[in-house]
Amino acid sequence: MKHTQIIADSFPALHQTIGDNRLVYLDSAATTQKPQCVIDAIVAYYEHDNANIHRGVHTLSQRATQAYENARLQIANLLHCSRHEEVIFVRGATEAINLIAQAYARPRLGEGDVILITEMEHHSNIVPWQLVCEQTGASLEVVPVCDDGSLDMEAYKSLLTKDVVIVSMAHVSNAIGTINPVKEICKLAREVGATTVVDGAQATGHLRVDISDIDCDFYAISGHKMFGPTGIGCLFGKYELLQEMEPWQGGGDMILSVSFEETTWNDVPFKFEAGTPNIAGAIGLGVAVSWIQEIGYDKISKHEQELLAYGREVLLAIDGVDIVGASKHNAGVIAFTLRGVHPHDVGTILDHAGVAIRTGNHCAEPLMKRFGLAATCRASLCIYNTRKDLDCLGVGIKEAMRILG
Ligand code: PLP
Repeated sequence: MKHTQIIADSFPALHQTIGDNRLVYLDSAATTQKPQCVIDAIVAYYEHDNANIHRGVHTLSQRATQAYENARLQIANLLHCSRHEEVIFVRGATEAINLIAQAYARPRLGEGDVILITEMEHHSNIVPWQLVCEQTGASLEVVPVCDDGSLDMEAYKSLLTKDVVIVSMAHVSNAIGTINPVKEICKLAREVGATTVVDGAQATGHLRVDISDIDCDFYAISGHKMFGPTGIGCLFGKYELLQEMEPWQGGGDMILSVSFEETTWNDVPFKFEAGTPNIAGAIGLGVAVSWIQEIGYDKISKHEQELLAYGREVLLAIDGVDIVGASKHNAGVIAFTLRGVHPHDVGTILDHAGVAIRTGNHCAEPLMKRFGLAATCRASLCIYNTRKDLDCLGVGIKEAMRILG
């Protein structure tokens, strides 16, 4: 715990009060707080190296290019990609999935083809596929979720017919924390020839991700959910697939040469990075990756699992609290409801106590419907949280019950 305090100390935003209370931040699934080193790296870039990348011969441009490309190397290393060109910088997981949907899926799909997703997806892994279905005549099918929040693998196997062209699923559910067996899901998908997409938005800040081992075709990453800045993320794609794909957006940096008669594309990954990218964001994300590596995923996961067990204990000891989805393989997300109380009211009372949780449908409306709910409360845990934070949550919930229950 002492070490956790040292970790928490490197997050300046955690050291503030809300009203008279210490901030207890339990909303890291929405976005993680940023360590000082990430903030410093962004400031340093703008103070010393600010220049556009890949095209300047001057010193600042070379420094900025080197820092940006170094971040790509760090991410490729973190995720065990076989080559760094497989990492494309995008705005976030949402943009990564839209890129796959439009640049990979759309030209390849037609009537009769099936895109298979799961009932626990974030809207970012539903709507891009719905758009592609409308554009191509393909159809969307959905693997159901069991009562404990795990994926119904038997249903998955029976839905996995030869018509399935794409399987896209969350590595970790943002709403209930289920960790899906993505390696097995991808292996089964490959047996019917389907292309696999993993939405890793909730994974890379919390658990070791080895893309070569998972052997997926695409993997979407959200920088701001892994201690990096907002507005930056990555798409991993297998090199051969990225090479086969046409660009998604046109503009600067994604071309080799342009004439009015013919334009030729730059190499992967630049082919997919049209326009001036979020240079400071990428650099900040690279520093976040170093920070994660310094702590180590073993330590992060172990700490979060301990907190998860303790948090469930705290909540279940309160009369009137129901936990929603608690699968055997769960990340540090605790979804819960208070009988007879609207989650938004719980969230407001907790905020008065300095406790930040998320309430609502968590951009996972179909999953809420699956559990017969309009909304839940969600406490999401991170390496900088402590048991004390969960005690504060418990006290706040009891107070909410006293006032509203
Ligand atoms: N997928 C999941 C599972 C998420 O939790 C989120 C964000 O909450 C997203 C995708 C979207 O990520 P981003 O904010 O990077 O676009």
